[in-house]
Amino acid sequence: MQNGKPALTGGLFVCLNSGIRPMWAVGPSAKMEVCTHLKQSMSRRIIPVADVSAVPVISGPLQTPGGVLRDTLSRPLRDLRISVTDRCNFRCVYCMPRAVFDKDYAFLPHSALLSFEEIERLAGLFVAHGVEKIRLTGGEPLLRKNLEFLIERLAQLRTPEGRPLDLTLTTNGSLLARKARSLKDAGLTRVTVSLDALDDSLFRHMNDADFAVSDVLEGIATAQAVGLAPVKVNMVVKRGTNDTEIVPMARHFKGSGCVLRFIEYMDVGTSNGWNMAEVLPSAEVVERIAEHFPLAPLEAHSAAETAQRWGYTDGSGEIGVISSVTRAFCGTCTRARLSTEGKLYLCLFASAGHDLRALVRNGSSDAGIASAVAHIWQGRGDRYSQLRGSGDAASHAPDERRVEMSYIGG
Ligand code: SAM
Ligand code: SF4
Ligand code: SF4
Repeated sequence: MQNGKPALTGGLFVCLNSGIRPMWAVGPSAKMEVCTHLKQSMSRRIIPVADVSAVPVISGPLQTPGGVLRDTLSRPLRDLRISVTDRCNFRCVYCMPRAVFDKDYAFLPHSALLSFEEIERLAGLFVAHGVEKIRLTGGEPLLRKNLEFLIERLAQLRTPEGRPLDLTLTTNGSLLARKARSLKDAGLTRVTVSLDALDDSLFRHMNDADFAVSDVLEGIATAQAVGLAPVKVNMVVKRGTNDTEIVPMARHFKGSGCVLRFIEYMDVGTSNGWNMAEVLPSAEVVERIAEHFPLAPLEAHSAAETAQRWGYTDGSGEIGVISSVTRAFCGTCTRARLSTEGKLYLCLFASAGHDLRALVRNGSSDAGIASAVAHIWQGRGDRYSQLRGSGDAASHAPDERRVEMSYIGG
């Protein structure tokens, strides 16, 4: 900021009136013309969503993918989350508040999105580098037309050892009843469904788009019926908003075969007005449930698992708690994120991505792109939540520069 105004140094910006605007493809004098809202109201908030200076440079000897890539903290690259759209039919209060993502908000134009061919190509290079799990996300991924075609392509990928991928998707569930069968047939392995309350009026308040709980429950039941199992159900807990739903949700999904997971409300992005007072620590979630249904800790499936597992002592299933705020798991974070327009982010709380789409569209070879990915991952030192926990997060990623969850993919 300079004199209370945003410093425009180039890149892509979100004008809260007119959405994402390129500020770099034109000369400095024309910069102001591409966004009249910006010219009219320089004092309004602007969210930079990507830093164009981060187009990777391919230099030096090319690094052939060797099936394992480690960052500066020795964390391997194992998971890739791919956002297939920045759009959503919900306006969850903690993710896409309607006041920001309103009817005038300009989402990415179709030409900016990675095509399925481009996603498949990049995904193949990540798999060659050791990625074993791909999660499709968004925005709402089921809004992306013909998503099944992409899943069919990704399902063909094999790890260097010849294994198929764990290919999964996170959805708000509103379109799942209609799509579960075709997703399964296309090769999707599992699905995670978000559901923040069973109380219908509270759920409608939280999604702020008048979707009913019954739509999501029907989606979950259909996913189970077609074998997209075990279905995981994610509940973001906001103290004072939906924490009264913790026990009813546990009761509902106990014994259902679904794994209910409680996520601490996170300070991701800049638009949700996050406040620590609204975070309900996972430890309290476990306590509240255990008062009704005794729980015992379970072993993690893998070191990189984000959720801590708890089993019902009567053997009727398990829950998970994802303590993103109160118990950082950066030390085992093996996740990279590919945004809707092909920027590679190394952390959910990053403020800048690496523009892989530029490489894909400028004729770079597979070896060149793979080499750039290797270079980027090997330079990774991100550990935002850990620094937040130690009180040092502000210097790590200043608030006004963080990307939104709906853009980067959850
Ligand atoms: N639209 C899909 C959905 O809601 O499942 C996929 C994208 S959404 C961004 C992915 C996950 O991020 C969801 O489970 C959502 O609840 C979670 N999420 C979004 N904003 C969050 C926040 N501020 N804190 C914690 N979790 C959040
Ligand atoms: Fe949409 Fe998912 Fe964000 Fe809710 S959490 S607004 S469903 S992207
Ligand atoms: Fe991974 Fe960043 Fe989350 Fe830490 S804060 S667990 S590095 S995504």
